[in-house]
Parts: sequence; C-alpha cells; structure tokens
Amino acid sequence: MIFDVMTLFPELINKITDESIIGRAKAKGIIAVNAVDIRNYTKDRHRRVDDYPYGGGYGMVMQCQPIYDCFEDITKDCKKKPHTVYMSPKGTVLTQKRALELSQLKQGRLVILCGHYEGVDQRVLDEIVDEEISIGDYVLTGGEIPACVLIDCISRMIDGVLAGSAAYEKESHFSGLLEHPQYTRPEEWHGRRVPEILLSGHHANIEKWKDDTGLELTKKLRPDILENK
Ligand code: SAM
Repeated sequence: MIFDVMTLFPELINKITDESIIGRAKAKGIIAVNAVDIRNYTKDRHRRVDDYPYGGGYGMVMQCQPIYDCFEDITKDCKKKPHTVYMSPKGTVLTQKRALELSQLKQGRLVILCGHYEGVDQRVLDEIVDEEISIGDYVLTGGEIPACVLIDCISRMIDGVLAGSAAYEKESHFSGLLEHPQYTRPEEWHGRRVPEILLSGHHANIEKWKDDTGLELTKKLRPDILENK
C-alpha cells in the first residue's frame, strides 16, 4: 500500500511513521509513505500557501493552487484517480471497519491531504477529495497527527505488517467488542494476582474467559458499542 501524504510538515509524517512496527513495515517495503511538501508547489515568490479568509474571520486558509498542483504531480502516473481523503474534524469519525475497508483498496494507493491553520479552501476539496475522515470530535492544529493515525490503523491490517491477522482480529473493536484484560509476568505484583484461569493451561477455558471478560468489559466501559450493533 502506498500512502501519499500532502502536508506542510512532511518531517512530522516521516518522524512518526519511521518508528516501531510501521517503520519496520516501511523498511521491508510492505507499505510506503510518501510525504510531499505542498509548499514546494506554491507559485508565490514568498512561498506562501495560505491567505486571509473571504468574509473575514480568524486565521488563514490554505489556498487551492499549491494543493491542486501537488495532487496533480503525485497522481500524474496513476491510470485511475487514487482514493483521496481529507483529514478533517468535519469528516466521518474513523472506525476499525472503515480502516479495514481502506486497507483493502484495489488500487493499493491512498492520497491523504492534511490541512493546517483554519483549514483548506473548499473548492480544492470539492475538486479532489472523495472522503473526509475525522479522528474524533475535537479540533487539532493540523492534519498530520490524524493522517498518521489513519496510516497506522490501516497498515497494521495489511498482510505482513503484524505476525498474522489473528494479531488484530482478536483486538478491541475488530469484532465490535473490547478485548479482555492482558497480564504478563510476574504472577503477583503489589499483592495483585493474575487470574488463576490464565495460569491453568486449560486452553478452552482460557478462551471462554477471554470472550466472557471482553463482553463484560464492553458492557461496563462502552455500552454504546453493544447498543449500536
Ligand atoms: N476551522 C476548522 C473547523 O472548525 O472545522 C478546523 C481547522 S483545524 C485547526 C486545522 C486542520 O487540522 C484541519 O484542516 C484538519 O486537516 C486537521 N484536523 C483538526 N482536527 C482534526 C480531527 N479531529 N480529525 C482530522 N483532522 C483534523
């Protein structure tokens, strides 16, 4: 899967995605993250990419031209327009289900636009964007962290990134439930023991315990998930 990220802060994207599991997936060539600096496409002699909002108001708005030229350059060799996402607090909130669908995009390519400042001129969004995705109902300063959230969430469901699909299928949200609590050594810490069943070696009972406690935890912490199922 290739992620083309249009951003004013490519180093931020690279720094985050170069680390840990996602960094290793990049190094192995399972995914590619192509962070492209929108500013390189401005025709303004002072390298400006934003301007005051029409109608007044606080802050600056990212202009159409540099974003559109950046998009045209990124996609110039694509036979079909790649699916293009704008990270936006106005978008549909990201779910595991949507991330799974995006991990299976036929074209194997996703273009992600990161806004900054007050956001992006609506006309270029209307021209190139297929979908707006939010990472939650709050506002951040820029789309770079949301883009990295999206890349991370999609990538860990791509073959070869984790040890196997069981690694993510059993986790919270994949099946619509939260995962059971996890424990590791030692067996006792600060007077708190690991549940005896996990030490029993009885696999069927352990699996049942995991399912039951996952369901109990969902009822307790996120009853809304069960209500909306
Ligand atoms: N003026 C915009 C509004 O009220 O909807 C907010 C702009 S925000 C300060 C700047 C940029 O950060 C946005 O263009 C978007 O790319 C990104 N952003 C902020 N919050 C986000 C969120 N919850 N999910 C995804 N992207 C977000």
